[in-house]
Amino acid sequence: MNFKKVNDGLLDFLNHSPNAFFAVKNMKHILCDAGFQELHEGESWKLEENADYFVTRNDSALIAFRIPKKNFKGFQMMASHCDSPVFKIKANAEITIDDQYVKLNVEKYGGMLCAPWLDRPLSVAGRVMVVTKNGVETRLVNIERDLLIIPNLAIHMNREVNDGYKFNAQVDMLPLFSEKSDEKNAFLKLIAKEAGCDADDILDTDLFLYNRMQGTYVGENQEFICSGRLDDLQCAYSSIQALVQAKPKDSVAVACVFDNEEVGSGTKQGAASTFLKDTLHRINASFGHTEEEYLKSLTSSFLVSADNAHSVHPNHPDKADPTNRPYMNKGIVIKYSANQKYTTDAVSGALFRTICKKAEVPYQTFTNRSDMLGGSTLGNISQAQVALNTVDIGLPQLAMHSPYETAGTKDTAYLIEAAKVLFSSSIESIGDGNYKISF
Ligand code: ZN
Repeated sequence: MNFKKVNDGLLDFLNHSPNAFFAVKNMKHILCDAGFQELHEGESWKLEENADYFVTRNDSALIAFRIPKKNFKGFQMMASHCDSPVFKIKANAEITIDDQYVKLNVEKYGGMLCAPWLDRPLSVAGRVMVVTKNGVETRLVNIERDLLIIPNLAIHMNREVNDGYKFNAQVDMLPLFSEKSDEKNAFLKLIAKEAGCDADDILDTDLFLYNRMQGTYVGENQEFICSGRLDDLQCAYSSIQALVQAKPKDSVAVACVFDNEEVGSGTKQGAASTFLKDTLHRINASFGHTEEEYLKSLTSSFLVSADNAHSVHPNHPDKADPTNRPYMNKGIVIKYSANQKYTTDAVSGALFRTICKKAEVPYQTFTNRSDMLGGSTLGNISQAQVALNTVDIGLPQLAMHSPYETAGTKDTAYLIEAAKVLFSSSIESIGDGNYKISF
């Protein structure tokens, strides 16, 4: 495994993907370069065997798939998400203070660690809707320079800050944009200039802050990588790389990257939506398969829900479970939860362990301490639309939901190898609970 090459590729992807819109754009590039054909949900699909495709929804979610033959056995799938906790810029964003400064009005998207957003260069990226002759069109914008900062209050004015501080998003988290000038709507004009239009032509926006700090390596032997958005672009990137490199034989290989996991997945482009179900139905219908054949194929299908996991924290080792203790660079984490917040059970855990063994990559296990509530992810949410054997896994990381997270330099390559085996294999149901696995 060429760890250096994998990590350089990952960091480049992270640096150029400040949010879901750009992550999808960059994944499309990877897929187009590999010969995948783009489909549109609004057009009819004429799929062929031995061909590779992808489709996007809302420009912020993507499903890519490879069809080795028309009488495929099932679907071998990996799901991840491309959104991250962040601050979204509100409409009418400019706020003037003392006729001297202009700051921007923002609100929380998802549950982030607030403190690390302060005192570092930030910028803005997202999409704007521009009026055209016939309607509206989407343009992506990214102000690629240090533009904004959210300054801390000096310790002299907040002596107790180091004993714990409650961040008020409407007070503490608004970024400084400029000195006050005579120009009206300077922020929107800046965005319009980047979008190549007039401010008056912008009908609406989805704009988000992002941390300008580039991804890097740390550790005595560069054994860790740090970047924004490792959760969950590390898994999304791995799934796309693996899909491109895999050799599907008897089952359709599918990589799904959903948006809006951080806010509950309940949008048309989230894991709770019909996006995956619609896509699988259209693949099925393209080859003249019946609904019964679709339902049969789901019993011979497997979904790996890949969303990052918590590594044991060097300063807080007691926060981890006593016997399930994942460490960075020690392999893919299989996540368990008795109440099925994670979908892993003995069947899906066994199937995934078999895949890891075939790929010759290490794996480890995670459960929350029995006295701590964990987070949620997309595996159990997508079950409501497409019910099939599903395992929840992730790559071990620290500082989840900080704008600068830390992970291991070996684990991405491990996931790519395991996902290649997943996408190249078939898992055939031979009675409930029994499976024939062909690699
Ligand atoms: Zn996540």
